[in-house]
Amino acid sequence: MQEKYIPQTVERDAQAHWTAIDAWRALENDPRFPKGKYYACSMLPYPSGKLHMGHVRNYTINDMMARHLRMNGWNVLMPMGWDAFGLPAENAAMANGVAPAAWTWSNIAHMKAQMQSMGLAIDWSREVATCSPEYYRWNQWLFLRMLERGIAYLRTGSVNWDPIDQTVLANEQVIDGRGWRSGALVEKREIPMYYLGISKYADELIDGLDGLGWPDRVKTMQQNWIGRSEGVRFAFPHRLRGEDGNLVGDGRLYVFTTRADTIMGVTFVAVAPEHPVAALAATGRPDIAEFIERCRAGGVAEAEVATREKEGVPTGLFVDHPLTGEPVPVWIGNYVLMSYGDGAVMGVPAHDERDFAFARVYGLPIKQVIAPAQAALAFSTEAWADWYGEKTNGVCVHSGELDGLGYQAAVDRVVERLSAQGLGEKRTTLRLRDWGVSRQRYWGTPIPIIHCDACGAVPVPDEQLPVVLPDDLVPDGSGNPLAKDERFWRTTCPRCHAPARRETDTMDTFVDSSWYFMRYCSPDATHAMVDSRNDYWMPMDQYIGGIEHAVLHLLYARFWTRVMRDIGLVRFDEPFSNLLTQGMVLNDTFYREDDSGRRTWFNPDDVEVAHDDKGRPTGAVLKSDHAAVSLGGIEKMSKSKNNGIDPKAQIEQYGADTARLFTMFASPPEQTLEWSGSGVEGAQRFLRRLWNFAYGRHEAIAIRLRDRASEGIGASALTVPEADGLSESLRDARRDVHTHLRQADFDYSRRQYNTVVSAAMKVLNTLESLGATSTSGQGSATESSILAVSTEGLSILLRLLAPVVPHITHALWVECGYADTGGDLINAAWPQVDEAALTRSQISLVLQINGKVRGSVSVAADADRSAIEAAALASEAFHRAAPGQMPKKIIIVAGRLVNVVV
Ligand SMILES: [Zn+2]
Repeated sequence: MQEKYIPQTVERDAQAHWTAIDAWRALENDPRFPKGKYYACSMLPYPSGKLHMGHVRNYTINDMMARHLRMNGWNVLMPMGWDAFGLPAENAAMANGVAPAAWTWSNIAHMKAQMQSMGLAIDWSREVATCSPEYYRWNQWLFLRMLERGIAYLRTGSVNWDPIDQTVLANEQVIDGRGWRSGALVEKREIPMYYLGISKYADELIDGLDGLGWPDRVKTMQQNWIGRSEGVRFAFPHRLRGEDGNLVGDGRLYVFTTRADTIMGVTFVAVAPEHPVAALAATGRPDIAEFIERCRAGGVAEAEVATREKEGVPTGLFVDHPLTGEPVPVWIGNYVLMSYGDGAVMGVPAHDERDFAFARVYGLPIKQVIAPAQAALAFSTEAWADWYGEKTNGVCVHSGELDGLGYQAAVDRVVERLSAQGLGEKRTTLRLRDWGVSRQRYWGTPIPIIHCDACGAVPVPDEQLPVVLPDDLVPDGSGNPLAKDERFWRTTCPRCHAPARRETDTMDTFVDSSWYFMRYCSPDATHAMVDSRNDYWMPMDQYIGGIEHAVLHLLYARFWTRVMRDIGLVRFDEPFSNLLTQGMVLNDTFYREDDSGRRTWFNPDDVEVAHDDKGRPTGAVLKSDHAAVSLGGIEKMSKSKNNGIDPKAQIEQYGADTARLFTMFASPPEQTLEWSGSGVEGAQRFLRRLWNFAYGRHEAIAIRLRDRASEGIGASALTVPEADGLSESLRDARRDVHTHLRQADFDYSRRQYNTVVSAAMKVLNTLESLGATSTSGQGSATESSILAVSTEGLSILLRLLAPVVPHITHALWVECGYADTGGDLINAAWPQVDEAALTRSQISLVLQINGKVRGSVSVAADADRSAIEAAALASEAFHRAAPGQMPKKIIIVAGRLVNVVV
């Protein structure tokens, strides 16, 4: 055994060993694991080329879970793959002139090597890269099944159009309303796109959340995104006729509201710029036409619409209030979306904050129709107050027959009146839109459609799948290169065999991540998307990833799974039984500001920080020039703040075990983690101490284990059979070890990995305090007992730590001879708490005399009052401090102290 801990050697050897025995290959129904399957998986990364600390944390959590469960008898699957399609590869291609495929595959190789250096228990035989045709052919196949069932359909949709680059821009490519490359003002353009009918599944997607072991906030985010709301859809009748002389919309302008109780407070109606009434109003009115045109510019992102300054223009047209018949003016509002409901909303400025602001700007009437339950709250048309919009705590006023009614009664009465006239009914609406999957981009799954002049849009026949994406195109920023690649688009119609054109749109990359976790279960299935092995592993028992995927990815995956269920491919509804969202990794930031106020950020590695005596930072200088830099606070590690720590450099310097130990010890998995250089060094020191402890005893332990094995004791060599005969201090030590083991078991079960690590640290403290034994362990009876307790204690410690620092524990397990009797550490049985060791036979009480601490007294744990009094008076400490004195009174605090008053 090496005297010094050299992590690089230890880790290389351990990893080579695991590779040699194919340690992480997961097999269905593996008889070695009696507890059955456990599928624990991290969200697959985008292959940017470099791991960051967020990845290290995510995968270490997963690995710690996987290794712990395996040692506890579970058949664990931990796979890995690559979310390999997407825009960054196209951007990199433009910047470097390299095809996205070459860039992506080379990044995958780099990142895989970095992951392997972390010692993760990944079954690489199941690796999936979403850009490989073997994978994305099944995206195409399922898309065609959805098309057959009407789940996928064609419809026009709005896109961001860059008029200079003549290309469609993704939302993130629109910056302040302009194209990111050309700087041109972005226009909205309507083009045909494919949509997936996720909204049909909305009820199921909400109801299914109930049974899931997910963080509540993620469930809430999903619910809010789906946005199911109960309300009323009703019409404002009108006599507006179009140029053709017909009534626009058959004389009805429909709106949806969740506040039908405020219908008597309507003072205007606002329609979307694309609404037919807006088009009617623009006839012969250049000012209105110009306003509509202006609204058409600007991005289509929902967030942008929500934050856009509310603007409007009056049309001069009127509709009738459905209950009073009074005329209501129609406005065009830039905040009303045509794609949302009927593209029109009722305006109730007194009880809707947005309408209130709009009415204040344009001087529209504000009519109060709800009064609060507390009479003290007054209503004002000058400034918005929170209670105006409350629907639960008020009653109708100034509302005729609705006066005095609460929310639900008022809504019911309004619905009754409206439906009697055939003008309205209760309706459930969704915020969730159907999922537009067409992207006018190159680096994605080709949509399997062929356009024929005679036959229209024809699905590619199954036997012609996959439609393979050419992997040698280099985009130049001017539109989709697929559309210019004749080899790709020129084809023949599968129906009439006439020359035809392939669809050049590709699928949203969220499609790729919607089912990859099922492909892991049958990665080599050539004739099916998934096979029966998927039934064994799925649903996934534990999914781990960032909160940033709480909405779209998880929602799309849940939808996709249900489509697969409806097609008969799987027999479950929910793909992820449990979800853990790991916290962010934070670090200090440092910067200098130039005269114009622009900040340059410096990496914490290049900065030296001075601290006061309480450890608070007082200032910092750049190592290179020793001049001051400013402290910018603690922020999420990011490129923009230059405060990332490179895992590769950390692993090269300290080893993977140190990086793993620090990230697990510094914070519980779901909390944020603050990076700390001294914390990393502390983790490294602990591992050196562990190594030194084992080095000093490994020969004696190995001999003891061998001797006991030769006596036929074998597997039980890791316990202390002579525990009854141990001295009190050795019994105390065993009790400590088993108490910490019990604590660690509890913390493992609730995934509180930071306190697992601290329990292990305490075990090492205890074992160190036992002192050393001679090399042979053959000395006195005391030495032999110390060796017995050390042998057991170290075996528990190594197993406790194996999931978090697998390399060093593997090496020490072998060097100390445990592997000879117990086999490989990765397969070792999890240590069992010895309940007998936990019972305390003797306890120590503080001895006070006249309230002053004078020593301690040892008594049986179950000693009664008279026994404790006798022990106190008989103690050496009493005789020393109060020789010959008689006690006047003896006070006992159970389990803690005895105070003798003399
Ligand atoms: Zn045809």
